[in-house]
Amino acid sequence: MTGPIKTVGVIGAGQMGSGIAHVCSLAGFNVQLHDLSEDRINAGLATINENITRQVAKGVISDAEHQAALERIRPTLAYDDLSACDLVIEAATENEEVKRKIFTNLCPSLHPDALLATNTSSISIMRLAAATDRPERFIGIHFMNPVPVMQLVELIRGIATDDATYESAQEFIAKLGKTSTVSEDFPAFIVNRILLPMINEAIYTLYEGVGSVEGIDTAMRLGANHPMGPLQLADFIGLDTCLSIMQGIHEGLADSKYRPCPLLVKYVEAGWLGRKTKRGFYDYRGEQPVPTR
Ligand code: NAD
Repeated sequence: MTGPIKTVGVIGAGQMGSGIAHVCSLAGFNVQLHDLSEDRINAGLATINENITRQVAKGVISDAEHQAALERIRPTLAYDDLSACDLVIEAATENEEVKRKIFTNLCPSLHPDALLATNTSSISIMRLAAATDRPERFIGIHFMNPVPVMQLVELIRGIATDDATYESAQEFIAKLGKTSTVSEDFPAFIVNRILLPMINEAIYTLYEGVGSVEGIDTAMRLGANHPMGPLQLADFIGLDTCLSIMQGIHEGLADSKYRPCPLLVKYVEAGWLGRKTKRGFYDYRGEQPVPTR
C-alpha cells in the first residue's frame, strides 16, 4: 500500500458486511459493497439506512452526515469495480470453499498494492491467505456483531502478514473509532474460542433437558450477569455461523470437548438459523420472541 486507506471494498452485504460498510462510510471512507445479487445488496443497504436513521434519532449523528454516509456506499456485482480499493474486507458466508473461491476470482481485479482482509470468525488466516496472490498483505480483521455498536476488533496476523499491513490495519481500526487487539492465528482466535464453547454448552444443557430455553437464558443473564442469554446470543450471531465456528474449533484443535451439539446441527439443517430467518431458539415472527422449545 502506497498511501492511506481511502476506499474500502466489502464482499458480502449480510449482517456483518452491511455493518462494516456502515461504520466505514460514517468514518469517511468510500465503500464498494459487493454481494451475489442486487436483492442482497439492497437488503444490506436497507439495514444500513435503518441503523443510521436510529443513530440520527438518538442524536449521535446529523441528517447531513446520514446522507453523506449513504452516498459514499456504492453497490456492485462486479469485482472489477473494486480495482480502486485500498483495502477489501471479505465478509461472506463462513465457509472456507466460498471464501477461497472469492479470493481466487477477486485478486486479479485488485490493485497490486491493495490490502486484503477477511472477517472470518474461525477459519485459518494462513490457509485463506494461501488462496490469494498477496499473503504478505493479507490479514484477519474480525469485527464483532453488531458492528456499529461493538467496540472491539480482533486483528489476526497470518504467518506471512508483513508489519506494514498490520500497522495499516491498526490505523484503519483507530480511524473507525474502535479498539483493536491482536490474536494469534489459531481456531476462532480469542473472543470466539471462549464464547462459542459456552454457547455450545448452553445448547447441550437444553439438549439434555437440564433447562428450558427461557430457563437457560434467564439463568445466565441474572446468574452470571451476561447482557444476553447464550441462546438469545446464538440466534443473534446466526446458528449456521455458530455451527461453522464450533466445527472449526473441533477440527482445528482435534479435541472432542469442542464437539458441536447435535441439537445445533438439527436447527441448522431445519434452516432455523436465528434472527436472520426469524426462527431459531426463539420464534421472532410475532411481536415478542417466543421460545421454540
Ligand atoms: P450473513 O449470512 O448475514 O451474510 C453473508 C453474506 O455473504 C450474504 O449476504 C451472502 O449472500 C453473501 N455471500 C455468500 N457468498 C458470496 C460470494 N461468493 N460473493 C459475495 N457475497 C457472498 O453472514 P454474517 O453473519 O454477515 O457473516 C459473514 C462473515 O462474518 C462470516 O465469515 C462470519 O463468520 C463473520 N462474522 C460473523 C459474526 C456474527 O456474529 N454473525 C461476527 C463476526 C464475524
